[in-house]
Amino acid sequence: MSNLPEAFVDKMKGLLGPEYPRFMGCFKNPPYQGLRVNTLKITIEDFLSLAPFELQPVPWAEGGFYYGDEDRPGKHPYYYAGLYYIQEPSAMAPAELLGVRPGHKVLDLCAAPGGKSFQIAARLKGEGFLLSNEIDASRVIVLGENLERLGVRNAAITQETPGRLAAVFKNYFDRILVDAPCSGEGMFRKRPDMCSVWSYTLPDRISVRQKSILKHAAEMLAPGGRMVYSTCTFSPEENEGVVDWFLKEHPDFSLVEDVYFKWFDRGVPEWVNGSPELVKTYRLWPHKIKGEGHFMALFEKRADGGASSLPLFYKRRGISKPPVEYECFMKEYMREFIEDHLYVHKDQLYWIPPSLPDLSGLKVLRPGLRLGTIKKGRFIPGHALAMSSRKESVAQTIDFSSDSREVMQYLEGFTLIGFDGKGWVLVTVDGYSLGWGKLSDGMLKNYYPKGLRRVLT
Ligand code: SAM
Repeated sequence: MSNLPEAFVDKMKGLLGPEYPRFMGCFKNPPYQGLRVNTLKITIEDFLSLAPFELQPVPWAEGGFYYGDEDRPGKHPYYYAGLYYIQEPSAMAPAELLGVRPGHKVLDLCAAPGGKSFQIAARLKGEGFLLSNEIDASRVIVLGENLERLGVRNAAITQETPGRLAAVFKNYFDRILVDAPCSGEGMFRKRPDMCSVWSYTLPDRISVRQKSILKHAAEMLAPGGRMVYSTCTFSPEENEGVVDWFLKEHPDFSLVEDVYFKWFDRGVPEWVNGSPELVKTYRLWPHKIKGEGHFMALFEKRADGGASSLPLFYKRRGISKPPVEYECFMKEYMREFIEDHLYVHKDQLYWIPPSLPDLSGLKVLRPGLRLGTIKKGRFIPGHALAMSSRKESVAQTIDFSSDSREVMQYLEGFTLIGFDGKGWVLVTVDGYSLGWGKLSDGMLKNYYPKGLRRVLT
């Protein structure tokens, strides 16, 4: 790679010493590419027998795989069925380190485009909830689309500053992920365009923002809870430096060592002030593992005092009885009836994760699973309901095979002809949900969302 900033190259030479030539050598190789199987929809075994890709396991992430150079998983109908998420292999590590278990209350503070939120949701297995937050107005939309495609039910999405969230959620979450905005040096091989926004002073400037985000995150963690701080950059200012500052400012937090040193290197205290604690942080080097450059630290908050509790969303704002229009739709078209924890906002009907706290006063993109729209006395099922439903839970389905012309036409938004029957139908690819259609007069009217339609050939 010839466009690496000169000041960056000089800085890495100074930091790495004798290891520098090996580090630079890796820029001659292509980046590794990976995907993560969506265990909310399919088992790893079933995916391996179905997927037409050349897959090799990523050792540090269950369900994570490298795919081959010739594979194009982003163009395959299974991608649109949400059977996997395309994710750089090193980027799979932070959410693994967080150690999420079913039932946890989890905050992903810097969440878009959503790869790690999806990993967290898969670990929750539908129990507990995820609050997925993204500050940026356009990125939060992409986050919403991704979690919808992946069929995540128990997640709410907010577009907030860490400070405003911290004012609501004091000592609250069991797990928090801070996948911080950073100077992106670890992505230079994969995203050469990022070199042009880098400057020598950028790491120092961004570390100010990182400290502020971490400070607010710390306030929101419950006593005894765990928090991961991660970046995709090499600079010590944004990594060991931020962790060192954080530990000094927060004596109730300590670093936790986990099994991941089996695959990754340790942080380097000498690059900041020599504090021996910093060897408990993780460095992922692109010349040592099959993945790009990352840094992570796992913190635990001292377990004194209890976690705070907040009023539940559905208890404060839920409706006591399902709307009639929705009830009619469910009776006619669904075999699984979602009847509790419902909430109406304007003409939209949502299912709210039972343990989700009230989000009043926050900017909410969605408070849970969007079931659909109630309009002119009718219920129109939402794409999120299709994507989070299995074919067995819907009364009528039409299945296309992944190599059929029909599946491509459906994803492109065409009306298809030659079908019997009447009413709402779940369109599936090899048995996995793709979206809604509506049958009438021998036609399948296409309800695949307009903004998501794609030409895949
Ligand atoms: N975790 C994401 C994933 O796995 O897909 C990637 C997150 S990316 C490294 C960092 C995110 O932090 C960006 O989406 C950015 O918009 C957001 N961000 C930037 N400034 C922020 C701030 N002050 N507070 C919270 N998030 C911020």
